[in-house]
Amino acid sequence: MKRSLVWFKTDLRLDDNETLIKAITESDEIIPVYCIDDANFKTTEFGFKKTGSFKTQFLIESLIDLNKNLRSRGSGLIILNGKPHEEIIKIAKEYNVSKVFAKREVAFEEIETEAAVEKELFKHHIVLETFTTSTLYHAKDLPFAINKIPDVFTDFRKKVEKETSIRAAFNKPEKIKSPKLPDTEFPNLKNLCLQDIKPDHRMAFDFIGGETNAIKRLNYYLWESNCIKEYKNTRNEMIGADYSSKLSPWLALGCISARRIYDEVKKYEKERLPNESTYWLIFELIWRDYFRFMMKKYKNKFFTLSGIKTDKITVNELNPDVLEKWINGKTGSDFIDANMRELKNTGYISNRGRQNVASYLCNDLKLDWRLGAAYFEEMLIDYDVCSNWGNWAYIAGVGNDPRENRYFNIEKQADTYDHDGKYRNLWLNN
Ligand code: FAD
Repeated sequence: MKRSLVWFKTDLRLDDNETLIKAITESDEIIPVYCIDDANFKTTEFGFKKTGSFKTQFLIESLIDLNKNLRSRGSGLIILNGKPHEEIIKIAKEYNVSKVFAKREVAFEEIETEAAVEKELFKHHIVLETFTTSTLYHAKDLPFAINKIPDVFTDFRKKVEKETSIRAAFNKPEKIKSPKLPDTEFPNLKNLCLQDIKPDHRMAFDFIGGETNAIKRLNYYLWESNCIKEYKNTRNEMIGADYSSKLSPWLALGCISARRIYDEVKKYEKERLPNESTYWLIFELIWRDYFRFMMKKYKNKFFTLSGIKTDKITVNELNPDVLEKWINGKTGSDFIDANMRELKNTGYISNRGRQNVASYLCNDLKLDWRLGAAYFEEMLIDYDVCSNWGNWAYIAGVGNDPRENRYFNIEKQADTYDHDGKYRNLWLNN
């Protein structure tokens, strides 16, 4: 009898999950586990929580859905609480497993956690095998070594599109063999010391976690509403459910894979139409990949003030009052304030909004950009370590932007993207 443990992390899905498929193929029985890691709920050096209420609620919903889907195939999910390097080994010994399968990490802290787990397992002669499952392009198929990946996105994209193909997605397993697993105990916001979420009537889209809802949203955005065929024209809007795909929270927790979205867009192009908009959704997923590969290339540099650059940057000394005003949407710049209030009340803002509030913090307030990135880390329902710190570094001028000074003229931006003031009115006067 060969038993393996599947350690779910930000890959909370059955579909296109190579880790799960390989574990099932190589084992007689599998034990699926998820560990609520203490470290993900601590307060960081910048004074913000690593995970806030919006993302945690979405995570809990995703775990409930994962457990349901696993149980319907004969398995189930065990939720552990504590430090992964202590908890994973305990459960591995309890079920007498010989191998642990997991997603391979790219960011600094996540790699450290993975290494600590591997070290503990090794002491007990248990092997950890990891798989690359979150990107569109597989790291092994890139036409360059990680340390040779161009620092300019367009150079990366053009070469990758020309010389590499995207691997086929894995199908969902039909049946999963596991021993009888205990009932799953889910966490809640209260026992994770997080505040309840107050629903906000101005929110246009209700994000509910889990693979089932991710697939629903994908089907809606492509097949039911055909919104994708206008995506390139609408993606800079700021009000409503459908100006962009809203897939980011599901992608961040791996409830859906980028490859599954790609396959479905390709199917849509074949059966309905290919146009600039259908391509643009894939283009944005390549940006997502790029930030992951950059994180792999530059490691913890993305968390330093000068980012991936060698020149030192100067910032204003922190005035807590100035930062508070930015956080609470009380800067006096109505466009910034509207966005910051939407973020605070919903955990989500548009890409246009993110670029503007980030630029304002870096270029107008001249604060350490990492304060903004850390605040986003706590607040965003779709927080993703690579996309967040990569985008912030980009806007702060210490990341992958080839232009020297990307300054957003906030008034001009407001006039272009909220000409009639509807967005500002929604978040400032309601
Ligand atoms: P769509 O426009 O429908 O795009 C489809 C998908 O492509 C997204 O779900 C996302 O996975 C990917 N994508 C789109 N734009 C980007 C981008 N600029 N960088 C990387 N991937 C992208 N995205 C996150 O997922 N998590 C974050 O923590 C995050 N932090 C950000 C911080 C800043 C300062 C900025 C400027 C951008 C950040 N983004 C982040 C990128 C982007 O704003 C969001 O992915 C997007 O707004 C999510 O909405 P959507 O799913 O409707 O996107």
